Amino acid sequence: MKTKRGSINYDFRRTVRAAALLLAISVCALMFGGCAGQSSGSADPTHGTDNVVITPISVNIGETARPDNTADNGGATGNHTNTQAPENATATPSNGATPYYDPNSPLAGIIICVDAGHQDTGITEKEPCAPWGPEANSSVNNTVMKAKATSGTSGVSTKKPEYAVNLEIALKLRDALEAKGATVIMSRTDNSSRLSNRDRALMANENNCVLTFNIHCNGSDNQSVSGIELYVRGSGDNTSEYAARSKNEAALGQKLLDKLAESTGAKKRSVNKSDAYTGINWRDHATFIIECGFMSNPDEDANLSNPAYQDKLVSAIVRFTIEDFRG
Ligand SMILES: [Zn+2]
Repeated sequence: MKTKRGSINYDFRRTVRAAALLLAISVCALMFGGCAGQSSGSADPTHGTDNVVITPISVNIGETARPDNTADNGGATGNHTNTQAPENATATPSNGATPYYDPNSPLAGIIICVDAGHQDTGITEKEPCAPWGPEANSSVNNTVMKAKATSGTSGVSTKKPEYAVNLEIALKLRDALEAKGATVIMSRTDNSSRLSNRDRALMANENNCVLTFNIHCNGSDNQSVSGIELYVRGSGDNTSEYAARSKNEAALGQKLLDKLAESTGAKKRSVNKSDAYTGINWRDHATFIIECGFMSNPDEDANLSNPAYQDKLVSAIVRFTIEDFRG
């Protein structure tokens, strides 16, 4: 899989630099070699209705692996594009003393995809899970097919479908990111769109997104299971470039997870590396699948539909974007 960018900070600064006509911005050296080891995990069959063909490969940072296959279900249409002018970014003077961004609009010039997982009706037709061939990754490659979209799980107490909760959170996130100056691309703005997971990823690439938040909720057979967990890219096409991206995104993911747990008070589960998700594999930029909580847990299910709790999730994601991703 070809990538057109080297590192996240570089991405952002390049965007801002182009927008603000900056002369010189140093490139953060975030390109590290080596990929963390991976271990096989078993799919969580309880989440959603996705017709998953593969077993996810994942490694947890700090906790026992518990991958689930739920994120690659979604669909729906709709594009929301903010027309935020990139020139809102503040040019850096030659002495470098002034921030290169406008403190009042710290995400100006950055293009972010907010992808609300799932949709009201699945698409059983299949599509390649990854762009790379079997010679690069024999276990997850472009001959491995997954359903184009599924409808997700539902709340044990609220009875709400996951796709609806995901969209509620995603719309709040869009508004909050835009309020900080970001340009936001929505994969869907209603529950009836029909984009496949790969279509959503390609849309984000084509819109020059440098970051995607893929919003999901989780499910388990055990109602006592709760907490927030993330998924990021794994070994991919087994190039050193991909390994560097994986390492970088896993490290950033841990910061995002820390903020989410701190903001909500929810249990902090883990950041998982995985090659199993179409929505990660096809994206050419930093992508975080956020499993915001378990709809199979009665308390967490109620929280996930609570606007005040949703705001806590959103504020953590926005703070991460400003403080950790933008840097
Ligand atoms: Zn999901």
